[in-house]
Amino acid sequence: MADCLFCRIVAGEIPATPVHEDEQTLAFRDLNPQGPTHVLVIPKAHHPDVAALAGDPQLLAAVHRAAAAVAEQEGIVADGWRLVFNTGVNGGQSVFHVHGHVLGGRKFGWPPG
Ligand code: AMP
Repeated sequence: MADCLFCRIVAGEIPATPVHEDEQTLAFRDLNPQGPTHVLVIPKAHHPDVAALAGDPQLLAAVHRAAAAVAEQEGIVADGWRLVFNTGVNGGQSVFHVHGHVLGGRKFGWPPG
């Protein structure tokens, strides 16, 4: 989608710092990191949110596999990490191309604010 920020990152039109890529997914560092590790994992194909992505279980699994690979690569598995899909306005979603936040490297609070 021409007006989608993350589609434009996939297309190479907007710069990003990639950390992992496969045929179906791309992972890149968040511009405003909330922890020592903060990586966004997206499907290359446009789906607005995680509910829409659930319509393609194979792609959903690919995003989860990529998130686990990023956590492994970042060395955050042993101490624990978080995978967050903010969804919709109340969920705090600001970019409507589904993305999982891979967060680690510090202890995160719960419940979220
Ligand atoms: P969310 O609020 O869950 O939709 O998350 C959107 C995330 O995208 C935020 O954490 C932003 O910091 C991040 N973000 C926005 N623009 C960029 C960009 N150009 N490159 C990397 N991360 C970005």
